[in-house]
Amino acid sequence: MDKLQKFIFEQAAVRGELVELSETWRHVQSHRTYPDAVRNVLGELMAAAALLSANLKFNGSLIMQIHGDGPLRLLVVECDAELKMRATAKLAPDAVIEDGATLPQLVNAHGNGRFAITLDPKDKLPGQQPYQGIVPLDGDTVSTVIEHYMLRSEQLDTKLWLAADGTVVRGMLLQKLPVEGGAEISEDAALETWNRTVALGSTLGNEELLHTDAGTLMRRLFWEETIRVFDPQEPQFYCSCSRDKVGNMLKMLGREEVDAAVADLGKLTIDCDFCGQHYEFDSVDCAQLFIADTNADAAQPPSPTRH
Ligand SMILES: [Zn+2]
Repeated sequence: MDKLQKFIFEQAAVRGELVELSETWRHVQSHRTYPDAVRNVLGELMAAAALLSANLKFNGSLIMQIHGDGPLRLLVVECDAELKMRATAKLAPDAVIEDGATLPQLVNAHGNGRFAITLDPKDKLPGQQPYQGIVPLDGDTVSTVIEHYMLRSEQLDTKLWLAADGTVVRGMLLQKLPVEGGAEISEDAALETWNRTVALGSTLGNEELLHTDAGTLMRRLFWEETIRVFDPQEPQFYCSCSRDKVGNMLKMLGREEVDAAVADLGKLTIDCDFCGQHYEFDSVDCAQLFIADTNADAAQPPSPTRH
């Protein structure tokens, strides 16, 4: 079972989280085989998205994207408030990716890589746009890119440890919480707790993180600390794709383009990048898309979707 465990250090000076994904990670890889280096950065980005999502006081989806200018063009991870997640990666055509390729080699070959965070509210108000922050890729690893982003955009001291292989993704987050007026803890004491917990966290090696469950890690690293542990949450794979959404995408292409493609190919086949679900639209399906549109304009119920 996948798990995200939150905890806080004495008087809430620092918060911590540990996440482990294996089922979710298996789903992400079930319809795609990525080169090892790509797979690992995608896994690390998933761990980071789960760790940051769990702290958001926000009902909607957190979407993390890395836009690359090297052999790896795009990494996307989505995570909603219930930690339902999906992820995908897109390689450049004919990409050659060596084992052990670094994040800059994969996505920042010409210095034009970008990191984007989007907060997409679940129940949008009319006209409300998702919030999006886009920054240049500043850092050599997924963890440092996100640490820099959090410091600049949110003014939050954050430390991340992330690791992934073919079977499991694990990550740890430490974050210094702002000391509020009237708090029981002084800024100095909070800073001391922060420095101490980061020093303890920094003893954690990549292999140790990858191969140790959350409970063991927490005891091993922080056995001398006063910690309050919360009920664990359960991240899981979920893809929000549907035949209706694919139909809407085809409608946006316009009737002329869709008709031409159907005439050319006999039918349109679309595979979801996130879950591999296969969708087919033949000429009748496509005609119906645009008829349904006309019906909707006339305020009649749309015809049922054919399968
Ligand atoms: Zn899907």
